[in-house]
Amino acid sequence: MHRYTSLIVKAVVMFQFVRAFKCGFHPARCRSAYFFSSITKVAVPDNTIAKMNRPFIPNILKSTTADQDIVFKDELMSKKSTIIADDHEFERSKLDRRKYRAIELKSNGLQVLLVSDDETDVEAGSVHVRAGHFDDPEDRAGLAHFHEHMVFLGSEKYPAEGDFEAYLAKNGGSTNAYTDMEDTNYYFSITPGDDDDDALTGALDRFAQFFICPTFETSAVERELRAINSEYLNSITSDNWRNYQILKCNANPSHPFVKFGCGNYNTLTNGGDISKPTLAESGGTNPRDILLDFWDKNYHGGNIKLCVLGRANLDELQESVENTFENVRPAPSNGVKSGYPALSQQNPLKITTKSVHTENDLMFAYEGESYGDIPFRVGHELGIIREIIPAKETRKITISFAIPPLHSPLIDVGKPHRVISHLLGHESPGSLHSVLSDEGLIFGLSSGVGVDVSDFALFNINLSLTAKGMSERDRVLDLFWQWMSIIQNEIWRDESEMEKYHDELRQLSEISYTYKENTNPTDFCSSKAECLFYTPAKDILSAAYKTGEYDADVARAFFSRLTPQNCMMPTLP
Ligand SMILES: [Zn+2]
Repeated sequence: MHRYTSLIVKAVVMFQFVRAFKCGFHPARCRSAYFFSSITKVAVPDNTIAKMNRPFIPNILKSTTADQDIVFKDELMSKKSTIIADDHEFERSKLDRRKYRAIELKSNGLQVLLVSDDETDVEAGSVHVRAGHFDDPEDRAGLAHFHEHMVFLGSEKYPAEGDFEAYLAKNGGSTNAYTDMEDTNYYFSITPGDDDDDALTGALDRFAQFFICPTFETSAVERELRAINSEYLNSITSDNWRNYQILKCNANPSHPFVKFGCGNYNTLTNGGDISKPTLAESGGTNPRDILLDFWDKNYHGGNIKLCVLGRANLDELQESVENTFENVRPAPSNGVKSGYPALSQQNPLKITTKSVHTENDLMFAYEGESYGDIPFRVGHELGIIREIIPAKETRKITISFAIPPLHSPLIDVGKPHRVISHLLGHESPGSLHSVLSDEGLIFGLSSGVGVDVSDFALFNINLSLTAKGMSERDRVLDLFWQWMSIIQNEIWRDESEMEKYHDELRQLSEISYTYKENTNPTDFCSSKAECLFYTPAKDILSAAYKTGEYDADVARAFFSRLTPQNCMMPTLP
C-alpha cells in the first residue's frame, strides 16, 4: 500500500485557457525599419544570369536527376526565397496526392510549407508564433491572450476593423486563433473561386499585414479587455478549466507553468476594477505599451512559421507567399527562439543532480532545461492526492505523471508512452480495465499525454468512477498500482515480451500512415505550421507515425517516472 499526502484544494477563481478564441486591432505602430520592400542588389556572376534567363519549366524537377535538381532548385529559387525541400523529397502516404514544398524567405528567414491540392474544396493558411502565456510579464497575466485578440483589429494597409473577416466571409471562409502556453496560432479558411479569381492571395495579403504592421487600435483596448474578462467568467463554471488552473497554480512557483494564461480585466490592467465605467477610472494601467513590446520581441521571421494550402500550383503559391510575407521583420540578432536548441551532448540520456524522481536520476534531453527549474518537485507538488470540490458531480480521478517532453529525441523516436498507454487501457480478461469494470467501480478508463511543452509533459490516466468506485477510491487506486507493478516487472524481466508489444504498435501506426487520407485543410495548416519548428520539412507528414526499435534502457528510464512519488492525483467527487 502506498501512503499519500492528502490535500483539499477548494476551487480557486483564476482559470487558464489552453485554446482561447480570438476577438479583435490599431495603426500608428509601424516603424520604417520593419520594411524590406526593396531587395539589396548584389553583384551576380554572369553564368547565374544566364541560368535565370532560361525558359521557365514548372515540372522540370520531376524529370531531373538529384544532381540536376540542385542546379534547378538554385534556378527556381527566386530572388525572394530558398527551397528547403521540394515535392519529391517529402515522405508521404500512398493516398496523398497533394504537392509539397518548403521554402525560406530571404528577406526575413520566415519558413513556409506550401501545399498544392487542385481538388480541395477549402483553401487555408496558418501562422504559428513561438510565444504564448509563458512569455507573459509577471504583472500582466493574460498578455499573450490579449495580444491575440488585439492583433487582428486592423493593419496599416487594411485599417478598417473587420476587413479581414468581411473579405473571408465574402469568399466563404472564416478565421480564428488560439493562445497556448508557449505558442499562438492564427488560421483562416476560404472557398476557392473561379480559376481567374485568386481569392487566396487576397486573403494572404490581409493576413500577412497582421504580422507586418498591426495597428493595435487604441480605441479597442477597453472593449477587448472586457471581452477577455467575459471569457474568464464563462470558464469559472467549467470543471475542466477549474481543474486545469488548480493543477497550474499548484506547480513550482519558479516555473512558468504556474502562470494564469487567460487573464482578466484585473490582471491585464495590473489591478483595475472592472466595475468602474472606464479604464481611466478603474485604478489600473493601460496595457497597450506592454502589448507593443510583446509584439516587438516575438513577432519576427525567426519566430514565425507559415503553412498555406491552395488549389494553385506550387510555383504560384510560392509567388503569392513571397509577395505577401516578404515584409515581415527579420529576426533580431538576439531574438531567435525557434524550436529546441541543438543537443549539448551525443547521449541524450544523462545523469543529473536534479531530483525529478526518487529512484532514478537519469534525465532525458530537454527535460527541465528551458526555464531554469523543473515544474513539479517531489514532496511539494508530487506524491499528492488533491481532493477538489467540483462545480457539479464528476466522480473522476486523474493520475498525472511528470514525464520528459515528447520532443525529447529518445521519446520522439522510441515513443515508450504508447506501449504503456496500450497496456494500461487494455480491456482483455484479467486487465485492469476488466477487473475495475467487473467490480462495478468504473465507467471508463483512458490514458495518454496531456500537457506537452518544451521541458516536460504530463502522462495522464483518467478514471471515470461509479458511485461505488468513488466510495471505494482507495481500492481503485490499489488495483491501479498493482497493475502498474505488473507492467513494471514485465519491463525489467522480459525484454522480448515488451518488444513484441512495441513492434505490434509500430506496425499498426505505419499501416495507418500508409493509408492515411488527407485531413481538413485548416487543421492541417494549423498543425503543420507548428511542426515546422521541430521537424525537418521533408519528414513533416510522416514523423508522428514513425517509431524506432524497442530500447529497453529507454523504456525503463521512462517507466521510472511512473511512480507514486512522481505523480499528482486530483480527485473529484
Ligand atoms: Zn480570447
